[in-house]
This record gives sequence, C-alpha cells and structure tokens, in this order.
Amino acid sequence: MSARILDGRAVAAQIYAELSDRLRRLESHGVVPGLGVVLVGDNPASRSYVTAKEKTCAQIGLRSVAHTLRATATLREILDVVEQLNHDESIDGILVQLPLPDPRMEPAVLEAIRPDKDVDGFHPLNVGRMLLGLPAFWPCTPHGILQLLVRSNIPIQGAHAVVVGRSHIVGRPLAHLLSMKGPMGNATVTICHTHTRDLAEHTRRADILIAAIGRPRAITAEMVRAGAVVVDVGVNRVPDPERPSGYRLVGDVDFEQVAKRASAITPVPGGVGPLTIAMLMANTVTAAERRRGPRSSTEVSSA
Ligand code: NAP
Repeated sequence: MSARILDGRAVAAQIYAELSDRLRRLESHGVVPGLGVVLVGDNPASRSYVTAKEKTCAQIGLRSVAHTLRATATLREILDVVEQLNHDESIDGILVQLPLPDPRMEPAVLEAIRPDKDVDGFHPLNVGRMLLGLPAFWPCTPHGILQLLVRSNIPIQGAHAVVVGRSHIVGRPLAHLLSMKGPMGNATVTICHTHTRDLAEHTRRADILIAAIGRPRAITAEMVRAGAVVVDVGVNRVPDPERPSGYRLVGDVDFEQVAKRASAITPVPGGVGPLTIAMLMANTVTAAERRRGPRSSTEVSSA
C-alpha cells in the first residue's frame, strides 16, 4: 500500500480562496484586518514561523505589524507591547510567538491578550469557552488538522483517534475537539504521553493517528495499523551537511516506512504547517469582522 498524501498547501489554498470574499467585503467597509506579531528573542525556528506568517498576511491582504524584543526583555516590557496592541484599533489579532525565552512568562503574557483579539486561541477564556462548546477562537494547529481531515474526506465520526502528545497548544485541544459532539468531532479519543505504557499498543489501534511529540521519526511503521490515517504535526530540525542551512526538517513520523502502511499521511513540510497559518489568518479575519465589519455567514473559523 502507498498512502495518499494529504496536501496541506492545497487545503490552505482553498481556505484562502474562501477568505478572499470575506476580505473583499471588509475592504468595502474600509477595513483591512491587522495582525500584531510579537517575537521575543532570536530563536531561529520562531523567527522563521513569524516570517512565514507575515509573508502570508501580505499575500492574502492582511496588514501585519511586527514587534521584536530582545531575548532578555522583562515580563513588564512584553506586557507593555501586548497592552499597546490591545488598545490599537487597527489591530484585530495578536500573536505572541511561543516559546518565550523564559517559558514561565507565558501564562501571564497569554492572559494579558484581549480575548477578542486572541487569534491563537490560547487565552484561558477562549480555552474554557472551547471546552464548553461555546463560540471561541480555536487554537490554530488543532483546528487546521480538523480542516485538513474534513476537507480530505477522512471520516472522523466514530473513528478511534489516538493523539500522541498532550501540550496545551496541540495535543490536548486536538483531543478535545476530536471528541466533541459535532460535524468535526464524534471520534473516540485516546491521548498518550511520556507516561503511557506500551505506546505502540495504543497507536496500533488508531484509525486516525496524530503525532504531536517533537521527536524525529518517533512513530515507526510497526506502530501503525495498516490503512490508518497518519497526521504528523512534528517539526524537527535534524543536521544535514548537504544543505546550505546545515539542517532539514523532519516530522515525528518515519514518513517513508509509514507511508507504505497508512492509507493517508501528511508530509513534513507541507502538511499541517500550512493549515496552522491558514487558521491564524481565518481567525484574524473573523476577529476583524466581529470588531469592525459585517459578519460573514461562511466563515471557516469556529469563533
Ligand atoms: P511539547 O509541548 O514539547 O509536547 C510534546 C508532547 O509529546 C508532550 O505531551 C510529551 O509528553 C509527549 N511526548 C514526548 N515524547 C514522548 C514519547 N516518547 N512518547 C509519548 N509521548 C511523548 O510539543 P508541542 O508544542 O505539542 O509540539 C509538538 C511538535 O509539533 C513539535 O515538533 C513542534 O515543533 C510541532 N508543532 C508543529 C506545528 C505546526 O504548525 N506544524 C505547530 C505546533 C507545534 P509529556 O506531557 O508527558 O511530557
């Protein structure tokens, strides 16, 4: 068997085509959605994510405003930038790129973002509303994965989904959304982590296996049931002396071997990553519609 490749770039392009109508409508009301991006420090991976998000804003017609702080910035300095963006009427969404150099600052920084501008969906209010099934900004990577599955005609309802990883950003919200009542949920979900005994025993039972681990090629072919759908969230830099950069990106899944067993699989890069950015753009457009424009009836976002 050779797996169907779930093309994240193609699905993201569909979402941008849908957003373009909503952007035109906003523009006719004189509104260009604004995204405030806060980068603290010079982590190369974070910098490249921020660059990709800014580039996409420019391509689809959003305005992005970058604030870069040095790695030694104090919590007060970061909060001041967030406050400034909270009060800026032209800014609809605020993104603080994680991880912060001092991750202990993250809860206070995320809680300082105005919930109606929290387009990453990490503010406790949005997390709580999501858990209760109330309108909320859903976190971009989990929502992007659901969009990728649904738009690729992968049945979620009734499937056994196994999520490896329980971070607040990916694994935990994804497990919740998959198990939620509704058209993108109704799966039976198992969530695994470092204390899971015999990981492979769980992963082999998955109809849909999602790896959000952060360890290169941790999911091997023996851990996958024949015919399963495999979603690889991982983005890991591994040394590659043949590349000018000195590294290449690999996922959490041994792509070559697993693709021989799975029925469908996401590549890295080009799988989940483009959807994460697409959902950030969708949330920012939704935030602009709610704050400053007519509300669309065909919005992609859950908010
Ligand atoms: P994280 O916060 O480091 O969480 C990793 C999770 O994996 C933890 O829950 C950890 O368990 C679990 N884990 C680690 N090793 C394991 C093992 N051997 N067996 C079972 N579980 C294990 O990472 P994250 O933020 O969720 O990100 C995960 C990966 O996705 C990273 O590579 C990241 O770069 C990537 N990512 C990609 C996108 C995208 O758009 N493509 C977006 C976000 C993240 P414990 O809780 O027990 O420690």
